[in-house]
Amino acid sequence: MSDADTLFERIIAREIPADIVHETETTLAFRDIQPQAATHVLVVPKKRYRNVAELAAADPQLLADVIATAAKVAELEGLTENGYRVVFNTDSHAGQTVFHVHAHVLGGEQLGHFGR
Ligand code: AMP
Repeated sequence: MSDADTLFERIIAREIPADIVHETETTLAFRDIQPQAATHVLVVPKKRYRNVAELAAADPQLLADVIATAAKVAELEGLTENGYRVVFNTDSHAGQTVFHVHAHVLGGEQLGHFGR
């Protein structure tokens, strides 16, 4: 990918500090710096794809790894009893701001319905 490195490449490379929750060979999970729920963790594949559609098309196994890490984070953060949400914002109408695909794992309290 020709774009300059995103913030998340720099977190993966440990050039920028992050509160890391879990790591696997292919993924990294760290706390969102502006949490939108009591628990808000981001899960990224270490290899960069722009969004979830590009990841799904190019490397379905890596997408499965991201989801498995999200499930592991939910377990580690004590979210499995009451449930949680996994969200991939994709491009402008969804408000994607960092163009390195990431799953938001949200929970730890009752979440509102989403949409507008
Ligand atoms: P999105 O809007 O879906 O692209 O999500 C990007 C997320 O990255 C936002 O929820 C930001 O709060 C979060 N974020 C931005 N900078 C950092 C950082 N340095 N460490 C952790 N999360 C960050």
